[in-house]
Amino acid sequence: MKALVKRGPGEGLDYADVPLPVPDRHDVLVRVLRTGICGTDLHIFEGNAWAARTVSTPRVIGHEFVGEIVEVGAGVGGLLPGQLVSAEGHLTCNSCVNCRADRKHLCRAAEGLGVQRDGAFAEYLALPAESVWVHRPGVPLDVAAMFDAFGNAVHVADTFPLRDRTVLVTGAGPIGAMATAVAAHRGARLIAVSDLSPSRLQLARRAGAHLTVQAGQEPLEAAALGQEQGFDVGFEMSGNPSAQSDLIAAMAHGGRIAVLGLPDEEVPTDWSDISLRMLTIQGISGRKVFDTWHTMNTLLDEGLDLSFAVTDHFDARDWEKAFATAAQGDSGKVILDWAPRD
Ligand SMILES: [Zn+2]
Ligand SMILES: [Zn+2]
Repeated sequence: MKALVKRGPGEGLDYADVPLPVPDRHDVLVRVLRTGICGTDLHIFEGNAWAARTVSTPRVIGHEFVGEIVEVGAGVGGLLPGQLVSAEGHLTCNSCVNCRADRKHLCRAAEGLGVQRDGAFAEYLALPAESVWVHRPGVPLDVAAMFDAFGNAVHVADTFPLRDRTVLVTGAGPIGAMATAVAAHRGARLIAVSDLSPSRLQLARRAGAHLTVQAGQEPLEAAALGQEQGFDVGFEMSGNPSAQSDLIAAMAHGGRIAVLGLPDEEVPTDWSDISLRMLTIQGISGRKVFDTWHTMNTLLDEGLDLSFAVTDHFDARDWEKAFATAAQGDSGKVILDWAPRD
């Protein structure tokens, strides 16, 4: 089968023939239909410091996917060939204190699909049945393909109460834009979003942002946005050090920040400012397993529209163009097709 493989250190990936994965008795085999390109995949392509430290090679990469079960291991109950599925991309150890207390998102030994285990940028994928999420009929394939990223957005947006609150979002990539959509759906009174890219600010507007700020061109300051008291809630989605410090400065006393963005390097922080203004900063990673996934279904049932979030499609063979598009920082979610479209 064809797959996108990281061979070793440095930049680049290989679109190559690899053996079909063999599911063990607790696994399912999935025929991959569509995959979403994530920032993680871009870092693996670049071979940045995190990737060099974390990705064991050779490795089939990718974790955002939708596919169809084609084979079910002998020890698997409740799953059937033909079901349309995605999966939780953090494969948890099931033995640490948090796993055993059913707080799997806090597992200290989770392995990432497409990071420490072969992933979804391939025609077929084998993975543990317990990680599989079965989609309900009617979920658009593009939305299903990015359920993992949608889950990041929901996890961030549902960290703090949002009804009638003011929200500042730094970073309007696909996850930032989807978190904006969830905040609007949850009844935030005012949502301001910053990004370097004008086209991503358009995405944020379509997601429900009331105000947008072009970072580097316009001041990202609470007063300039008509919020003299500061913002109630912040979502840091960019990993950009100046966005992080601007966000902290723009918070109200007692403000609450959910941080998903990952800076490449250590960022200095003024802890006395955080104490004196009594800010809450909550780190966010992944999704709650599977609470967040159920919430995603509920949000879709309630009419949350994510059609704005997917901006580009490529055939898997054109993966280089797809990665270049995603790396430019102007797009929403970029989707790779692994199977012919009906
Ligand atoms: Zn991802
Ligand atoms: Zn664990």
